[in-house]
Amino acid sequence: MRILVAEDDPTLRKGLFQVLGEIGHTAVTVADGDHADLLLATEPFDLVVLDLGLPRMDGLTVLERLRRRRLAVPVLILSARDQIRDKVRGLDFGADDYMTKPFDLTEFEARVRALLRRGHANVVRVGLLDWSWETREATVGNCRVTLSRHEVGLLEALVQSPGRIVSKETLSLRLGEDGAPSTSNLVEVYVHRLRRKLASAQVEIRTIRGLGYRIEEAREVA
Ligand code: CA
Repeated sequence: MRILVAEDDPTLRKGLFQVLGEIGHTAVTVADGDHADLLLATEPFDLVVLDLGLPRMDGLTVLERLRRRRLAVPVLILSARDQIRDKVRGLDFGADDYMTKPFDLTEFEARVRALLRRGHANVVRVGLLDWSWETREATVGNCRVTLSRHEVGLLEALVQSPGRIVSKETLSLRLGEDGAPSTSNLVEVYVHRLRRKLASAQVEIRTIRGLGYRIEEAREVA
């Protein structure tokens, strides 16, 4: 999943970036509220980790602007002990969870998992393919499909909305290490690999020229 981390403390920012990477997510980090606001207005994210005390635009304003755009992405607020009142306001503004600093990174990891699970049925099925949001594993029948980290990222983006087009740009962001869009050619390479690995799953990853890709149940051959 693609996660935005807005935190101005460089040590904590780095720690969060690392722990999210270790559990298989792509973290995009920013150190101020302006930058967070800009990215949230222009790029897709599956979760936002938002410090309240941010320079240039505070976290509450970032959150308020995000919800005004009616984006339902889950938000985990990070706050210092003396910001209890802001924390409550954050929840009023539509934050989904909060953590008070200092916190344990293991607990952070557990909260992230819980937030990402929310809003998803545990398993999505397309054709014979079962995708588990919890274990991030693909199975066809009873066989687990071995996927690389990049393949997991792409498949996850596609199965989020089966039958709907996912832009090449979105998929390319999934392959970016730190928010830097990778070359679009890479998307083609990984889509090609996914198609091969899912050959027995009766699913089709269709190329919609100029728009992106779409995963759907394979149509029967006439
Ligand atoms: Ca701060």
